[in-house]
Amino acid sequence: APTSDSGAASSEPPKKFPKGVVLGKDGKPCRSCTSFAAWASQTKSSLKGSSSPTTATTTTTTTLPKDCPPDVEQLGRSSWTLLHSIAATYPPQPTPAEQADVARFMGLFARLYPCWVCAEDFQRYLERQPVRTGGRDELGTWLCEAHNEVNRKLNKPVFDCSRWQERWRTGWKD
Ligand code: FAD
Repeated sequence: APTSDSGAASSEPPKKFPKGVVLGKDGKPCRSCTSFAAWASQTKSSLKGSSSPTTATTTTTTTLPKDCPPDVEQLGRSSWTLLHSIAATYPPQPTPAEQADVARFMGLFARLYPCWVCAEDFQRYLERQPVRTGGRDELGTWLCEAHNEVNRKLNKPVFDCSRWQERWRTGWKD
C-alpha cells in the first residue's frame, strides 16, 4: 500500500507526508486508513480538539475527539464489534437463505470497507479462506481467525478463538 514512506503513484513529484500517513488511491492522505496520531502530525488544525461549534476547544491532543470522523483504529474497533456481534446472533442452524445472506454481506463489506488497504487485504483473505456459514460457532470461529490475521499483521496479540463466544455473546466464564 502506498504510505508516506513509499509515495503515491502519480505523475507529480511525490509530496512528503509524516511516517504512518497512508495515502489514498488519489495520492492524498487517506483518513480512514491512518491513525489519528499520524493524521494529527500532518495538519496543525487536527492537533486542536473538537472543532464542533458547540464543543470547540483549543486543547492539544493526539487522541481522536468523539465528534471527529473515525480514524483507522476507531473504524476498525466499531467494525469488528459489528461483525462479531453478527456472528454472535447468527443461528446455530441457519437456513440456506441465511447462509447466502451472510456470505454476500461479507463479500460486500470487504468491497465497501472505507480503509482501502484494509479492504483489499480482507478481500484477499476471503478468497483464500471463504466465509464458513454452516452455523454460529463456525461463522464466529472463521471471523475470529480473520481478525487474528489482521492482529498478526499489526503485531497485536492473537486471540484464543475457542473463547470468541465468551467475548462476544455470553460474557466471560469466571
Ligand atoms: P481491535 O483489533 O479493533 O479489536 C477489538 C476487540 O476485539 C479487542 O479489544 C478484543 O477484545 C477483541 N478481539 C481481538 N482479536 C479478536 C479476535 N481474533 N476474535 C475475536 N475478538 C477479538 N488496521 C490497520 O492499521 N491496517 C489494516 O490493514 C487493517 N485491516 C482491517 C481489516 C478489517 C476487516 C477490519 C474490520 C479492521 C482492520 N484494521 C486495520 C483495524 C484493526 O484491526 C483494529 O481494529 C484497530 O487497530 C484497533 O485495534 P484495537 O487494538 O483497539 O482492537
